[in-house]
Amino acid sequence: MERKLEKILSDLEERLRYFSELELEFVLKKRGPLSLINLNEKILKCERCGLSLTRKNAVPGEGNPKAELMFVGEAPGRDEDFEGRPFVGKAGQLLTKIIKAMQLERSEVFITNVVKCRPPENRTPLKDEIERCKEYLLEQIEIIKPRVIIALGKVAADFFIPSEQGIMSLRGNFHEFRGIKVMPTFHPSYLIRNEGNKEIRKIVWEDMKKVMAFLSKK
Ligand code: URA
Repeated sequence: MERKLEKILSDLEERLRYFSELELEFVLKKRGPLSLINLNEKILKCERCGLSLTRKNAVPGEGNPKAELMFVGEAPGRDEDFEGRPFVGKAGQLLTKIIKAMQLERSEVFITNVVKCRPPENRTPLKDEIERCKEYLLEQIEIIKPRVIIALGKVAADFFIPSEQGIMSLRGNFHEFRGIKVMPTFHPSYLIRNEGNKEIRKIVWEDMKKVMAFLSKK
């Protein structure tokens, strides 16, 4: 009787181990590597700067943890702060259209921001806020290892390519950041503010075509 019970228990243990491994694999596939999950948890609880006092939600970023392409914006806006997800407002809808035009889905790329919490009234993030938040973006890049980063707007461009030059002169060419190609381009909000200006849309599309051509080469 005792041996029978032992056998049942050992079978049960083996089955439990099997299912817990299966579940872990499922969770990892759905949520990304543990290191990215840990990092997200750190970001969600972060109190490194004053933005933690006014935010509703920190916005770590989302997408494929093995993405070849990463989009980096400035900071969450009102809608993003509310939902805890990046680029979900008007600018986000335009970014989604751009991603689709590149024959990609949002779930295939990774989308994040230089600063993970909303600055009050959507003001530009301060130097000190960028500095205190910097480690999160650097760690995300280290974990995801994208082949290309698209820097959306001046704040993101400055993060990767510190220079006195404006986005107009930086865009259109690949720059290098820690061995990764960086393509600066206009921020979707700038496109929205200049809706009638077809030239800016054309320019952004030219930049995206360069990124697509690079990604298609293995
Ligand atoms: N603008 C940004 O820079 N990032 C967002 O997530 C939304 C709007």
